[in-house]
Amino acid sequence: MRIVLFDIDGTLVLTGGTGQRALDGLFEERYGVADAFACVDPHGRTDRSIVRQMIEHHLARPADNAEIDAIIDAYLPRLADELTIAPGYRVMPGAAALVAELAARDDVVLGLATGNVERAARLKLGRAGMADYFAFGGFGCDDEDRAALTRAAVRRGRDRAAPDARAYVIGDTVLDVCAANAADARCLAVLTSGADPDALAREGAAAVIPTLDDRDAVLRFLDLVP
Ligand SMILES: [Mg+2]
Repeated sequence: MRIVLFDIDGTLVLTGGTGQRALDGLFEERYGVADAFACVDPHGRTDRSIVRQMIEHHLARPADNAEIDAIIDAYLPRLADELTIAPGYRVMPGAAALVAELAARDDVVLGLATGNVERAARLKLGRAGMADYFAFGGFGCDDEDRAALTRAAVRRGRDRAAPDARAYVIGDTVLDVCAANAADARCLAVLTSGADPDALAREGAAAVIPTLDDRDAVLRFLDLVP
């Protein structure tokens, strides 16, 4: 049995700036701050750490956890609305077919390792009909730190597979690679969001491929080729 954990943004789908628009609208309404998201580099970050950074940057004070919880709660319906209309939403090349193929195998336990809180993760995948392939995961609501949520995903995968099951992470940023390595998982990095392949390799990506369209390379990486 193998545990295969997918990142979402930039790996499975691009949501066309929906998260940014949802948070920008919220910060404008709540705090009177326009374009609040511009201070954040969201790549590989968790939802909670993004919101924390936005509060601390724009309001010049620490954010408390209850305030972050309230913002995430208000963010979710806005995200759902944005997702229904976002013209820039797209599924990454090869992602839908690969996920469907892996989900149908009985030697793979399929999960998520994403900085999105779980409800946001399921909304983002839901538009493409991909949410139900993932029965479990590690999410931005488990921990603000990506390594910690990835460890949670591996632990949950091993509960479903076997205590010594090998774990793999498929992601698109250096933070995915570092989190995978901290969680005893091998990371396959994809270049679909424009990351620097040398940086991904330097941080310890076990393999780097252009897109998930290279099904055979993914299956080889996962040691699923007979
Ligand atoms: Mg990503």
